[in-house]
Order: sequence, then C-alpha cells, then structure tokens
Amino acid sequence: MSLRFNAINNLSTSIDTKVDASPKITALFGSNVFSLKTAREFLSDEAYKSLQSSIKAGQKIDRAVANQIATGMRAWAELKGVTHFTHWFQPLTGTTAEKHDSFFTLKGDGTPIEQFEGDALVQQEPDASSFPSGGLRATFEARGYTAWDPSSPPFIMEIGQGKTLCIPTIFVSYTGESLDYKAPLLKALDTLNKAAVEVCNYFDKNITRVTPTLGWEQEYFVVDEALFNARPDLVMTGRTVYGHSSAKNQQLEDQYFGSIPERVYAYMRDFETESYKLGIPLRTRHNEVAPGQYECAPIFEEVSVAVDHNSLLMDVMERVARRHGLRVLLHEKPFAGINGSGKHNNWSMATDTGVNLLAPGKTPKTNLMFLTFFVNTIKAVHDYADILRASIASAPNDHRLGANEAPPAIISVFIGQYLSKVLNDVKERVSEKMDETDESMLKIDIHKSIPELLMDNTDRNRTSPFAFTGNKFEFRAVGSSANCANPMTVLNTIMADTLKKFKKEVDELISKGEKKEIAIMHVIRQYIVDSEKVLFEGDGYSEAWAKEAEKRGLENVKTTPLALDAMVTEKAKHLFESNNIYSHSELEARHEIELEKYIKKVQIESRIMGELATSHILPPAIRYQNLLANNIQGLKEAGLPEATFANQKQILEKISLHINKTSDLVEKMIEARKVCNNMDNTRTKAIAYQSQVKDAFFDDIRYNVDKLELLVDDREWYLPKYREMLFLR
Ligand code: ADP
Ligand code: MG
Repeated sequence: MSLRFNAINNLSTSIDTKVDASPKITALFGSNVFSLKTAREFLSDEAYKSLQSSIKAGQKIDRAVANQIATGMRAWAELKGVTHFTHWFQPLTGTTAEKHDSFFTLKGDGTPIEQFEGDALVQQEPDASSFPSGGLRATFEARGYTAWDPSSPPFIMEIGQGKTLCIPTIFVSYTGESLDYKAPLLKALDTLNKAAVEVCNYFDKNITRVTPTLGWEQEYFVVDEALFNARPDLVMTGRTVYGHSSAKNQQLEDQYFGSIPERVYAYMRDFETESYKLGIPLRTRHNEVAPGQYECAPIFEEVSVAVDHNSLLMDVMERVARRHGLRVLLHEKPFAGINGSGKHNNWSMATDTGVNLLAPGKTPKTNLMFLTFFVNTIKAVHDYADILRASIASAPNDHRLGANEAPPAIISVFIGQYLSKVLNDVKERVSEKMDETDESMLKIDIHKSIPELLMDNTDRNRTSPFAFTGNKFEFRAVGSSANCANPMTVLNTIMADTLKKFKKEVDELISKGEKKEIAIMHVIRQYIVDSEKVLFEGDGYSEAWAKEAEKRGLENVKTTPLALDAMVTEKAKHLFESNNIYSHSELEARHEIELEKYIKKVQIESRIMGELATSHILPPAIRYQNLLANNIQGLKEAGLPEATFANQKQILEKISLHINKTSDLVEKMIEARKVCNNMDNTRTKAIAYQSQVKDAFFDDIRYNVDKLELLVDDREWYLPKYREMLFLR
C-alpha cells in the first residue's frame, strides 16, 4: 500500500491526544525563566544590582560579578534538574542555534565537579564555520564568538527528559561584525531609544527611556504527520509544489473563528503550556481563514524579548507538534489556491513614564506628542519604503505578497478616515506665518474622538501592508517563517533616523526664535506634505491600486532578488552606517546571504519538482495510460465500433499530453538550472533562478501535474491530496 493510503488508514487511530488538564497559567508562567525576580533569590545584592542595571541601562557587568551571576544561575538551574547549558543565538539561517556543554568538569587533580563560571556565561566560541557569513568570516577572521545578552533572560529548554539552560546571546566575528539577527537589532533599539528620548523631551523632561514594543501574530498550518511524511515536497521545502485544489476550499469561509478541531486543540494547549513555562505570554488562539490554518498571538513585549520569544515559540511549536502526530507548517505559502501565512508585527514605543507614544493623548500637549511620533513614522516609511520592503523579502514570502490574500509588494500606510482628516487639517491650518496667537491650532482634540478612532479600526483595512490600528502600527507584510528581528531592525532604525532629522529641523526653527510648539507644528506639516503619497486608504489588493501607486511613484518590486537591491544602495549604506547599525561590509555580507538563501530555496524546490515528477507523478500516470490503451486495444480487437471507446480515447489523449508536457518541461528546467549554476555573480544568479527557473517553469509544470492528478485513478495516486491534508484530522 502506498504511504498515502497507509497514512489515511492510520489517521484516526494513530495518536492519543490527551494533554494534562491545564494548570493555572499564572502558576506556570515563567517557571523556566531566570527572571529578575528569580535572580533576586539566587544572587547577592551586588550581583543582582549589577544584572539589573545591565538590563535596564545596558551597563557592563564585570568579570567578578559575572562569576557570581553564573554561579547563581547554575544553582537555580540545578534545582530544576538541568545538567547542561548552551549559548542560544539566532544565526542568519533563520532558525536558532545551540551547542550544549555540560556543567560537569574535572579539576586539576581529576576530581569531578559541576561548575559554571562567569567566562562561560559571558562568551563562547561555537564552531561558526557552518553558519552563513556572506564571506565576512573568510575576509576578516576565521571564527566568531557568542556573547551574553543580559537584556533577554536565560531560560530552561525541556526536550524530552533533557533540560538545558539556554543563555540568549549575540553572535559576532572577532573583528566585531555581527553574524546574527540579534546584534544589529539591539543596536537599532538603542539608537531609537536615544533619538526618541530627545524628541520626547520637547514634551516631557521626565522621560529618560523609550522602549519599542512588539506584539507578533503567528499564523501557521497544521497537518497530520503521516500525510506530511508522504509528501516529500513538504518535508524538503515546507510547501506543496504540486496538488490540485480540493472541491471545497475556503470559499465557504466556515473555518474562521469556527471551532478548533480537538486534535489541534490538544496540540495548541500543549505548546501553550510549554510557552508559558518559557515566559512567552501567549494570549489568543483562533482558526484562520484557510482550512487547517490557525493563529496565535502574545501580549506585546519589548522588541528584543518579543523577537526571542517568537523564535523560541516557532521552535517549541515544531517540537510539540510531533508529540501529537502532527506537523506545523510555518511556511508562507504551503498550499496554492488558499491563503498563506503571515506574521503581523504590531509595533509601538513606550516611555519609562508609562506612555504609549502611538496612542492618542488626553491633553493637547500629549496629542502633539502623539502626532509627532505618528507623523514621523509615516515619514520614515515613506522615505525608506524600499528598505522596509527588502526587510521582508524572501523566497517563500514572494508567493504570498500581492497574491490577493496578503498586502501587495507596494509599501503604503493606512491610517483610517479620522486621522486622515486630522492630518489634512494640520496641513491646511498650519500656515507659514502662524504665530503664538494662533495656538488654537495646537488643540487638536484627538482624545474626544477616540470612539470614532476605534470604529475606524474595527472596520479596518486588511489589505494594507502597514496600518495604524488605534494605538500601534501593524506591519503586515512580514512572512510567517521570518525572524522578526530583521524587519524590526529596519523599522526601528528608519524611525530613529527620521526622529533625529526631525529634532534637528525643529531645533533650527527654535534657534531662529520660533516657539517650540509652533516649530514642531511646522515640521510636522512639512512631513505630512512630504510623505502624503505613501498614505493609502483603499483596497490594496486591487489592480487599480497598482496603477495608482505607479502614478504616485511608489515602488512595486515583486521579486526578492530585486527587492534586496535596496539593502546596498548608497541611501541604505548611509542610513545604517550613520546610525551605527551596519558597516558597509556587513550590509554587503547580509545582502549576499539573503541572495544565497533565495537561490538555495528555489534550487531545492526545483529539484524536488523534478524528482517528484519522475518518481511520484509519472509512474501512476503511465500505468493508467497503459490501462486505457489496453482497454481501447481490447475493445477494438473485439470488433466494437469507435463510439464504445471514444471517451477512453479522449482521456488517453489528455493524459498522454500532460505526461509528455511534464517530462519535457522537467528536462528543460534541469537545463535552465545548469545554466544558472554556472553564473558567478550571486545577484545575477538569483535573478536568473527567479526568472529562468521559477517563473519560466514552476507554474507550467504544476499545471500539467495537477491535471494528471484529476485524471489518474485516485487509488493509484501517491501524493496525499489537498482535501486530505487540509480536512482530515
Ligand atoms: P488582530 O488579529 O485583530 O490584528 P490581535 O489581538 O490578534 O489583533 O493582535 C494584536 C497584537 O498587537 C497583540 O499581539 C498585541 O499584544 C499587540 N499590541 C497591542 N498593543 C501593542 C503595543 N502598544 N505595542 C506593540 N504591540 C501591541
Ligand atoms: Mg493583526
């Protein structure tokens, strides 16, 4: 029996989906995290204070204190049954990496002891040679090291019976270039903090720290593990390269907010429990639009912690799924013809005085502060739309963007009717010669209209890639498998850069004798005028918008290799260098890595398409072709008239056509791949893979294969079908 039928037969009996009756979340929450509260119990006053000021103000921890902290961490971890530790980091491959070391060691005289010293906490040298570096390590230094990032708390990862203390770290080369997602992110957050505090101080001198916040929404698909295993394309690429859409799809829209199937529900509860222990504050879970698709979202957190938590969650989700005989698909587009998955990044900034800078204020003064940050965000997105677009570019996300289910590749900002009106007012009422007597202008009573504002947002535009949703912006174009760090690094950098310019311009007006509030109003007005063209309230999915955007001069870069160009323009180099995020060589390296990732992904997909065609598609198709041919031959020999086998003949003709087309196209695709593989320049090669391999063949081959799926005897078909993967649980 084929894997497919084996899987279907075992489906209902395979797995016991019982999960422990869930204990109270508050009792579990953070139990595997070395939080400051836990640290208080295990550290001396001195060590605790040092850790605290390192977390709160980024102060350096000295060696002796690091030793004390390490000892305290080990004491805590050992109480929880931990034997090993690892430096946990986020390399540019997109997954997380760890190398486990035991606390166990031998003293000089051979006595076995358990120890964890400050040095081991602070710095390690993983074998970095197998992580992508875009040529950086080769150019500068053979190895890199991981360095403790105290801003993210250590945690205990439970895998089966094993428990490991994980120390969040950044990964850098010996010459200081960052080799991971986290190091530049921390720099961007710090830069934003400084720039935002300076602007905040126009309004409130008490503000000394601004923390960007992130609440991601993780979409995913769940499929049965046995069905998954019978689909080599899912196993190798995370998406189905073939598969005819099933008779029933998402057209009834009966899945969204419908009841969650029991088996999936058990899985969700299980991974939620694991997440709670790790301090990931998951809050919502629900079905998504497509069959088999779901979403979960946490309460928002500081960006760096939220980024770690999302990476951790993806890892936990994958592992826990196997316990339930399920597989989670984090790919942006696992199934053609139904919605793909995204990871909305809800983003705002909070002050240490407890103000959300993107929440409309309650007084005219705080309104002006809100308006300042609101308009600066729009300006930042306007000025750096191309870099923002590049930050979400990936091979899998190309399948989703602009496919009438996710925002287009055109970056625009949605702000809702009400705020559009406010911006228009500002534009029209703030005049060149406005002076102190004209202060009525400053009293834009946004707070009185909060109900209006909220209404605007419940009825909000889902087609926008970057939308204001009441008290935060939602960057919706991020892909489901992405590490949030990259888009967050870019967003926070462009915001910091814009705020710095804003501050400079306002100060200039003030130095010319303008009153502070009026100076601010003038610059805000100018920014509104400058960035107006990025605002769009209509249907982002429509053809009309693509045309309109072109007229406005907004870019619409549909493919990753070209979108990535924006990373290495003079503008990008200046932006990242002047804000101390990336040096030129770091940018070039990252650009190279992203291109390489793209090439590899398309290459693997192309290979699996070829392989499946020859080993999984053509054999049953040819057998069925034979059956029909024999049947026709038999009827003919029996002397029956043409009409008795006319239908068979028709089917035979179709099957033969698609068989020939498939194998012909596959051969040609292999030739095209060979041509690409001989190209030296990475960018040229990536573009060639996209146009000469992917665009030139993928859809065509798939079309023929999917036709065969409909024609060939169902019992003969090897690959689980869409209806099975999406509806059987
Ligand atoms: P929807 O699916 O309607 O977009 P959700 O409630 O699923 O909304 O998700 C909203 C996300 O926004 C949550 O993760 C939430 O924590 C986050 N969020 C709310 N306020 C902020 C904020 N000030 N900063 C960052 N994220 C926020
Ligand atoms: Mg959302």
